[in-house]
Amino acid sequence: MRTTINQIISPINTSDGAGVKLKRSIGTQLIDYFDPFLMLDEFGSDKSDDYLGGFPAHPHRGIETVTYMLNGEFEHKDSTGAVGVMKSGDVQWMKTGSGIIHSEMPAMSEGKLHGFQLWINMPAEKKMDDPEYIYLNSNQIKTYEDADVKVKVIAGSFKEVNGSIKKHNIDPTYLDIQIISEQPFKYNLEYEYNSFIYVYSGSIHLDGDDSEIKSSHLITLNKGGSLVVRSENRAKFLLVSGKPIGEPIARGGPFVMNTREEIISAISEYKNGTFVKVGAK
Ligand code: FE
Repeated sequence: MRTTINQIISPINTSDGAGVKLKRSIGTQLIDYFDPFLMLDEFGSDKSDDYLGGFPAHPHRGIETVTYMLNGEFEHKDSTGAVGVMKSGDVQWMKTGSGIIHSEMPAMSEGKLHGFQLWINMPAEKKMDDPEYIYLNSNQIKTYEDADVKVKVIAGSFKEVNGSIKKHNIDPTYLDIQIISEQPFKYNLEYEYNSFIYVYSGSIHLDGDDSEIKSSHLITLNKGGSLVVRSENRAKFLLVSGKPIGEPIARGGPFVMNTREEIISAISEYKNGTFVKVGAK
């Protein structure tokens, strides 16, 4: 059965950290939670004032944050002692588990910044695991390319190309796709999974649907199976899919747990200095 559009979502303009401007499409009143996806932000500006404040030290618990830097350089540091600079094309896939405190600050004072941060929920049984990093340099991200399409495989697979994220509980697909010709991009989605497309350059439409989806728009997809995407202007877009977790969620800013009580204890642990369970120095 053909996959169809469920909702077309215009992101809201907001800011986070110390005033970094961004467009939030999941994690808003319109679509609070698209299980297992808690948040999707596109950050991007060529004005340094929009990003120089960065994201000073802040905690997370119970989620995975996946940062994909299309353009720009950010330095990250965290409570496990990890330090590194994310460069254009790199991905940082962080399983916060029981908790980390980290900062993400620009390692650039001018030029264009553009990227994405996706928050993926963790199931109750993994929320208090030790934190874990998966860092993918741009040259480790495998790409499929032919005359019609270019696909960077961050997670999941496309044709014979497999991503580096293995044995993950939500079995994620995270593809960065550019349609190059008049030929459609075709992909078979897992029927039970939640899937979305985020267009970030050009415009697309799904086969058999007149709606034109423009840049900086999200579409959530109905469960269907066979996805067929066309573009006349060499669109670029993300295709993300994952298995729903199906548990109650309680949100408290950077903490996402199952109950209100767990949020309250995360906040009080952060206040009294007992938040970080692993690697504390
Ligand atoms: Fe963060």
